[in-house]
Amino acid sequence: MIVHKFGGTSVGSAERLQHVAAIVAASPDRQRVVVVSAMSGTTNALIGAARDAAAGLPGTFRETRQQLAHKHLACLDQIVPPGDDRDAVAAEIASRLDDMERLCFSMATLGELTRRGHDAVASIGEELSSRMLAALFRARGVPSQQVSATELIVTDDRHGEARPDAIATRAKTRQRLLPLLEQGILPVVTGYVGATPAGVTTTLGRGGSDYTAAILGVALDAAEVWIWTDVDGILTADPKLVPDARRLPELSYREAEELAYFGADVLHPKTVKPLAEAGLPLRILNSFRPEQAGTLITGAPSPDRPILPALITTEELSLIQVVGNGAGWTLAMASRALSALAVGNAEVFMFSQSFSERSLNLVVRSRDHGHSVHLLQAEFQRELSQASIAAIAAQEEVAALSIVGMPDAQGTPIIQRAFAALGKLGLRVISVAQAASAYSVSFIVPERDIVTAVPFLHRELGL
Ligand code: ADP
Ligand code: ASP
Ligand code: MG
Repeated sequence: MIVHKFGGTSVGSAERLQHVAAIVAASPDRQRVVVVSAMSGTTNALIGAARDAAAGLPGTFRETRQQLAHKHLACLDQIVPPGDDRDAVAAEIASRLDDMERLCFSMATLGELTRRGHDAVASIGEELSSRMLAALFRARGVPSQQVSATELIVTDDRHGEARPDAIATRAKTRQRLLPLLEQGILPVVTGYVGATPAGVTTTLGRGGSDYTAAILGVALDAAEVWIWTDVDGILTADPKLVPDARRLPELSYREAEELAYFGADVLHPKTVKPLAEAGLPLRILNSFRPEQAGTLITGAPSPDRPILPALITTEELSLIQVVGNGAGWTLAMASRALSALAVGNAEVFMFSQSFSERSLNLVVRSRDHGHSVHLLQAEFQRELSQASIAAIAAQEEVAALSIVGMPDAQGTPIIQRAFAALGKLGLRVISVAQAASAYSVSFIVPERDIVTAVPFLHRELGL
């Protein structure tokens, strides 16, 4: 059995969905499970609508609902012929979007976005895409059923970053999916979501559909997990920045985990661990070029494979500064800032504190920027009015550039060469974080410099 996961761009249009159906049909294994993300842009739109509703901008969620309804129904019309099945799926899509509108309405009324409410809305994109894909399989003559992962993956109640309970998940997943597989029915499962033992919807963290595929692969004792995305595998750099970046044909679990941890979007960081524990091979493949070999991740990669460092970039980050006012600044404020952001579901990518300037630098995703400033202003309302905090200032758009890899043939740590190369380029580095292992280092740099810095470093490091 193979668990196939398709990301947002792989299901982003009617044409892409047709490719997905063809890829699954050509899969070498008789038994398959499909895990699917929301169509690209959908999850961001849903979360944006919920936040705007809670912040008192009620117009947005109605507009978002219209846009999502149009996008999904137009796509459904292109992939499923007119008839009862299409009508039924269209009605389900409308019903899930009704849920979204109702939830946003109550957020607008209460003026509050709870973590539970966040997950209820954020999970809707996968509920829509999975229904469409299952209908497409049926239209092509493949018996298929949509299954919500809320019926399979049992998690704790840490909304936005929920952790699965492996034993309960294994039992529920097998009980629900094995009978379908035995009857030759292809399950199409929602990525990204789970539910508490009481049945409350949770999400596994942004980009979490990769993790869903791993969880289900382990629960079902699958032979392999295949993650289909829009690039040829894990490469030495993001190909959007370095078009001739090299594919890493084979990686160990540890190497893959390290790359994912530093934010290579291509693989969610939590994906590797369960697969490594169960010894399941993981492949990263290109749904746009399915004939390519991709990256194979196993416990024992071939010893003669190329071992190269990779440049991992995370763009669309914002630097926010909480500026203290002399003696008024205490370390406890840093911890309050971090916990206010965590409670509000705004992930902090990196932070640093300047003791001399008494300020805290926080790096958040740009999509969370307005929301984060809002959360910090609410947390420090009193300090701001008493001027013990001078300002909560949005600084600039930044990016993280990490160099991850083993020492080179001469045994020189890669970091030493990276610092030398960056010095040569004269890049302004805002903040540095170095791993204790000396095998990786991350730099926060102005976002606009990334397009020159990454190709330059890629050349300087001999990649
Ligand atoms: P999906 O929607 O399939 O989950 P993502 O957008 O999450 O896809 O991840 C795929 C993207 O990851 C690619 O389009 C690519 O731009 C980016 N990426 C960043 N770093 C790397 C890397 N080292 N190798 C491959 N892709 C990378
Ligand atoms: N749709 C979710 C997100 O955008 C999960 C995923 O794409 O993996 O974060
Ligand atoms: Mg992804």
